[in-house]
Amino acid sequence: MKQTLTIVVPVYNEAETVDLFYAEVKRVMSPLSSRVQTRILFVDDGSEDETKAIISKMSEVNEDVGYLSFSRNFGKEAAMLAGLSEATGELVAVMDADLQDPPSLLPEMIRRIDDEGYDVVCTRRKTRNCEPLLRTFFTNCYYGLMSRISKTPIINGARDFRMMTRPVVEAVLSLGEYNRFSKGLFSWVGFKQSWIAYDNVPRSAGESKFSYKKLFYYAADSVLSFSTAPILGTAMLGLLFCLIAFVMIAVIIIKTVVFGDSTNGWPSLACIVLLVSGVQMMGIGIVGAYLSKVYMETKKRPLYIIKEKNVKTEQPQKNVQKNRVF
Ligand code: UDP
Ligand code: MG
Repeated sequence: MKQTLTIVVPVYNEAETVDLFYAEVKRVMSPLSSRVQTRILFVDDGSEDETKAIISKMSEVNEDVGYLSFSRNFGKEAAMLAGLSEATGELVAVMDADLQDPPSLLPEMIRRIDDEGYDVVCTRRKTRNCEPLLRTFFTNCYYGLMSRISKTPIINGARDFRMMTRPVVEAVLSLGEYNRFSKGLFSWVGFKQSWIAYDNVPRSAGESKFSYKKLFYYAADSVLSFSTAPILGTAMLGLLFCLIAFVMIAVIIIKTVVFGDSTNGWPSLACIVLLVSGVQMMGIGIVGAYLSKVYMETKKRPLYIIKEKNVKTEQPQKNVQKNRVF
C-alpha cells in the first residue's frame, strides 16, 4: 500500500509559476512514486489573472492535481486552512507556488517522518539574500519582538513550508479561531518537530504578493493572536505615569509651602497633559484592537468561500462541485 502525500499550494496571481512548480514537484517526486502517491492541491485565492484557468486545465489533464477556487481573495492564511481541510493524504505538506520552498527537500522530509519518527518537518531560511534590506530589517525586528512577548516560540526565518502527519493536521484544524496566524498555530500544537535550514531562493517568476502594508497587518495580527503583552505593557506604562505624577505632586506641594504659590510652569503642564492623554488614547487603542478581534470571533463568519473545486482523493476520482458555499 502506497503512502499518500497531499501538497497544499495557496496561489494568488501565480499564472507564471504554477507550471514550473508542478514540473519541479513531479521531477523530485517521481523517483519515490513506487511508494509515495503524491497529490497536489492548489488553492486559488481569488486570482485575477489566468491562474484559475491554468490549474483547472491542469487538473483535467493530470490525475494528481486538484484545486479549490475562492470567490475572492481571502488571504494566504485562509487558503492554507482550506487546503488542509480538504487534503486527504496521510502526509500533508504546505508549499508556496513560486519555488521559494524548494521541492527538493520533500524526500528528506518524508525520510525524517518515516525513519526518524518525527510528526512534523518544518523549514527555516538561514539567509535572506535576494530580499530588500528594509524588509529583512523589519522582519528581524518583528521576530525579536515576538520572541520576547509570545509564550509560543515563533522561529526567525520559519516558513509555512512544512510536512505534517495526519494527527498534526487534525490538531491544527481543531483550532477553531477566526484570527489565524498559522506559524503560531503550527508551533502551538507541538508534536515532535524537526527543522531543515536552507539558503533563501529567489522567486521562480512574478513578484511577491506581500506588500509592506500587508506584512504590517500580518505582523500586527500575529501579535494580537499570540500575545497579551501590549495590554500589560500599557497598564505598566500607566502605573509608571501615576508614580511620576505622585512624586511631582509631592514636589509641587513642598515647593508651594516653602517658596509660596507660583503660576510658572504652565507650558510644562500642557506638555504633561498632552503626553498623558496620548498614552491614554494609545491604551484605549490597544484594548480596542483586542476587542475588535473578539468582535470578529463572535461573528463566526466563514474564513473563506469556495466557488469551485475539483478535489482528488488517493483513490483517483473526480469530484467536481460548483458554487459550493462553506
Ligand atoms: N498567496 C496567497 N494569497 C495572498 C497572497 C499570497 O495565496 O493573498 C500565496 C502566493 O501565491 C504564494 C504564497 O502565498 O504561493 C507566498 O506568497 P509570496 O511568494 O508572494 O510571499 P513572499 O514569499 O514574498 O513572502
Ligand atoms: Mg514567495
